[in-house]
Amino acid sequence: MMKTSLYPTQELRRRALAWAVKLRVNPRVIRVQDMRRKWGSCSSAGTVTLASDLVDQDPRFQDFVIAHELLHLRVPTHGRLFKALMSAHVPGWRELEELRAVPRSGLGRRRNGAHHTSHEARR
Ligand SMILES: [Zn+2]
Repeated sequence: MMKTSLYPTQELRRRALAWAVKLRVNPRVIRVQDMRRKWGSCSSAGTVTLASDLVDQDPRFQDFVIAHELLHLRVPTHGRLFKALMSAHVPGWRELEELRAVPRSGLGRRRNGAHHTSHEARR
């Protein structure tokens, strides 16, 4: 399915690049690929990976995942500094975070429920 629609994937990468500028981080690579268990990841080598089906999610949720992963290039842990930076750049991120941890099978295709109905997205 993703192979026929390159454009949204490029759009997602572009969005991530814009965030990298905004957050003043310099990822080595930003890639978009199928990820079944997470929405994104960041390696210590500077590779940020975003789940391809993130393109179907609400832009606010996309921003949340992108900012989260990119900020790991500055702060590797989820400690106080990380949370402060998230609050500065993605107001309201805490409500989105619950969705991030939800098993992917419960969330991937819920376009409209992306950020309002976290209770629904849970098992
Ligand atoms: Zn993290």
